[in-house]
Amino acid sequence: MADRAPELVIRNLRAKVEELDREILKGVNLEVRKGEIHAIMGPNGSGKSTLANVLMGNPFYVVTGGEVLYKGRDLLEMTPDERAREGLFIAFQYPVAIPGVNFASFLRTALSARRGYEHELIPVSEFQKILREKLELLRLDPSIVTRYVNEGFSGGEKKRAEILQMAILEPEMAIMDETDSGLDIDAVKVVAENVNRLFEQAQGNMGIVLITHYSRILHYIRPHYVHVMLDGRIVISGGPELADELEQTGYEGLQAQFAEVAAETTTSQPVRRAGKIFWVAH
Ligand code: ADP
Ligand code: MG
Repeated sequence: MADRAPELVIRNLRAKVEELDREILKGVNLEVRKGEIHAIMGPNGSGKSTLANVLMGNPFYVVTGGEVLYKGRDLLEMTPDERAREGLFIAFQYPVAIPGVNFASFLRTALSARRGYEHELIPVSEFQKILREKLELLRLDPSIVTRYVNEGFSGGEKKRAEILQMAILEPEMAIMDETDSGLDIDAVKVVAENVNRLFEQAQGNMGIVLITHYSRILHYIRPHYVHVMLDGRIVISGGPELADELEQTGYEGLQAQFAEVAAETTTSQPVRRAGKIFWVAH
C-alpha cells in the first residue's frame, strides 16, 4: 500500500541543546515508511546525531518547534521507554557501557518490554530460543552475551552488540547513527550484511534510517533514498546516486552547488535535475 501514511513523519523539527541556547536543528522534514531504507548524510556538526537524540527523547535536547508523528501518534509526547516498546530503535554513534549488567539479562529485559510483559520477564526458555536464532542469523560468537553491556568491547564488538539488540527487538523503525564509524572495511561489510539480513527478514515491516558521514557503508547497504543534512536542515533528497555524486564532489562541492540550486528553486519549482542528480530542495 503505497498510499498509507508513513510510520515516521518529521515536520519542520527544530531543537536546541538546553544549556547552550543555540538552535541545532533548524527545520527538519522527513517521512519514512516501513520497507524503506533512507540514508541521512552530512558533514560533521550538521545535526545528524542531534536528530537521533531528539527522536529517542534524550532530555538534553529541547524541541523548540515542529512535530514528529510515529505510527500516527505524537512521538514527542511519548516517554523513551514507550518509544522503544512501540518499536522505535536507535543505535547510537557512541554506545554506552553498563558495567555490572550482563548483556543477556539486558537483552531479556528489553525484549520483555518490547513484547508487552509488564510485571514479569519473558520466560527464559523462550528468550534463549530467540537469542540462539538471532546469534545464528548474525553469525555472532555467543560469548558476547555473557559479558557486561559494552564494557571493554572493541569498536567492532559494540557495533555487533547493537545489531544483536536490533535483531532481538525487531524494531519497526531503526535509526542507526554512524554504524560504520571506526570500523575497518571488513567489519563494515559484516555489519552491512547483518543489517541487510535483518531488513530482508522483516519482510517490509521495518524502516531504516542510516545516518552516515561517509558513503562507504552505502556501497553495502543500498538505500532507497538519500538525504543530505547541512546546518540543521535536510536540504537535498534523492536516490542512491546522490551518495555516489557526493563521493565525488564532497560536501564542499555540494554546498556550493546547493546554494546555486536553492537560489533558482526559490524563484521556480522546488525540484530540478542538475547533472546526474535529481534534486529536491526543501
Ligand atoms: P553531527 O552528528 O552531524 O556531526 P551533531 O548533532 O553531533 O552533528 O552536532 C551538531 C552541532 O550541535 C555541533 O555544532 C555540536 O557541537 C552541537 N552539539 C550537539 N550536541 C551537543 C551537546 N550535547 N553539547 C554541546 N553542543 C552540542
Ligand atoms: Mg554524529
